[in-house]
Amino acid sequence: MAATVGKIGTTIEVARSRWALGFGWLACVLVYGFALYAGGNEMAVWINDLAWTLASAAAACFCFRAARQVEQSRRRAWLLISIACASWFIGQLHWNYVQLVLKVAQPFPSLNQVFYTGFAIFMIAGVFQLPEARNRAPFTLKHVGNLGLITCCLAVTVVLGMLEPALQNPGVTTTFLWVGVAHTVLVSGTFLAALSALWTFRWGASWTPMLLLVVAACIYAATNLIYAHSLLIGDYEPSDFVNLSWLAMFGVVACAAHEQSWLTGHEQGDLTEQMQARERWLEAVVPAMLVIIMVIVAMSSTAMLTPRVAWSVASLFILFAVILGAREAYIQSESQLLTDELVVTNQQLQDANVELRLSEARYRDLTAELEQRVGERTTELKRAYDELEGFSYAVAHDLKAPLRAINSFAHLFEDEMQGQLTDRSREHLNRIRNGSLKMATLIDDLLAYSHIDRRGLQSSVVSLPNLVDQVLNPYQDEMQRRSVTLSVVVEPTTVRVDASGLALALRNLVGNALKYTREAVEPRIAIVCRRKDGLVQIAVTDNGIGFDMQYHDHIFKLFQRLHRDDQYPGTGIGLALVRKAIERLGGRVWAQSKIGEGSTFTIELPG
Ligand code: ADP
Repeated sequence: MAATVGKIGTTIEVARSRWALGFGWLACVLVYGFALYAGGNEMAVWINDLAWTLASAAAACFCFRAARQVEQSRRRAWLLISIACASWFIGQLHWNYVQLVLKVAQPFPSLNQVFYTGFAIFMIAGVFQLPEARNRAPFTLKHVGNLGLITCCLAVTVVLGMLEPALQNPGVTTTFLWVGVAHTVLVSGTFLAALSALWTFRWGASWTPMLLLVVAACIYAATNLIYAHSLLIGDYEPSDFVNLSWLAMFGVVACAAHEQSWLTGHEQGDLTEQMQARERWLEAVVPAMLVIIMVIVAMSSTAMLTPRVAWSVASLFILFAVILGAREAYIQSESQLLTDELVVTNQQLQDANVELRLSEARYRDLTAELEQRVGERTTELKRAYDELEGFSYAVAHDLKAPLRAINSFAHLFEDEMQGQLTDRSREHLNRIRNGSLKMATLIDDLLAYSHIDRRGLQSSVVSLPNLVDQVLNPYQDEMQRRSVTLSVVVEPTTVRVDASGLALALRNLVGNALKYTREAVEPRIAIVCRRKDGLVQIAVTDNGIGFDMQYHDHIFKLFQRLHRDDQYPGTGIGLALVRKAIERLGGRVWAQSKIGEGSTFTIELPG
């Protein structure tokens, strides 16, 4: 918050200082204008020279300060611009010394003119050193056309405003005339360079200093043309208001430098698009403005309308029209090219779209076909699975009858052969009976295992304490006989579940707990039911023989046993049955154990 306030504060301060600088300069221009008006030519020489000396010095200082503050990429540009102002300042000092101190009339051209020319050259060199200039848009035929139009306008102005008045002025020497022409070429060059910068630079957020510099260059060029015109026709007056423009120009340069100092360190976005829009607007308006200027210049110079002038001005108008036409044709062909490209791209886009739709449709068809195939295969598999289930159920069921027969006939045989059987024969008979009993148990368990898939789920709200009671009931006698310590901690809660599936799983776990605590000195079994994180957990813990944890998952597979059959008889189906039953209820089961210390089997069900 504090930082924001600080930033706003700084921004307001800078805005104020910008306005202060602008208004300060405007005030100087007004005072200066008033002094020119009031003082007449005598005073004007002093006022002009003093004002230009101070203004060029101030602008040089501002630019030098900007050069010190800006980032490396802009430093050289601002140094060159400050040298430009300093060059003017030195020229001005020289002029002041000779003209005002020594009171010697200056020859034309004089040394100070070299320094003034230096101003234009360094200024343009500086502007073209700015990063915006290094990242320029291509200079196209359209830009050449724009510059051609402006050159025509300048030429009309020069012919009517300078050449012709100079030629008609008997007081103008040839040297004077040539210096005038050279000077005109230089300022026109400055003007054209400034405009080409305006058109081709890629503008960033620091466009204000750039624009101000271009404006300064334009003021410089325009003022110089008017100044040269007055010199050539011999009516230059030190109190002319055109002299104000020099001061204004330095004011604009100082403002540009001040702006650049402020922009340093501030975030800079890219304004290329906005500036391009302005450039397009400018390009459309410029030819019309140029025609207006040319007509005004021509109309105001009718006094010099000799046939020579008429021919040259007419030729320049024709050249203007030709360039305008060529420029328009180029712009049209460029936009036609762009339109063609757009049409091609659009067509490609449409083709790609159609292709996309087609592949989408193909993809949909394939998915539908795949789904259909998966559906068919699933039905086939289910049928095969059902057949297999039915088959194994029937086989298991049918096997029970011969087993019962073996067992009862073995019984009858023993009764009938009472007293005639040797101990060895009796042992053999016992083995036959035990084998058939074991096989019957195995078949019962297998039947239970396959039956579990065949019976549907019947969910109901089940009270957990009641269910646990029902499961424990059949084991009460055995527990009492074996003095098993039973601890039951069941939260008085209900769960929506298939009761017989859960009871079957719990029965198996309690049965195993009793079986595998057979050799414990003080057998203990604990049942804990509780809710945890929205789930119901039922844990059956015993202090029996336990098992190695590396088999914690293995024991849930069909027929997998860890203990010998003569020690702990069993079929290896119980835990597989438990897992199948619990998974059908949407739950899971897992075991934790340590050899010799006991085991815990936990069932987890969705609450
Ligand atoms: P079984 O009829 O052999 O008990 P189960 O599928 O119920 O078949 O158990 C598989 C094996 O897991 C058992 O043979 C036994 O080795 C081990 N097991 C199951 N419960 C316990 C337990 N409470 N304590 C130690 N081992 C157990």
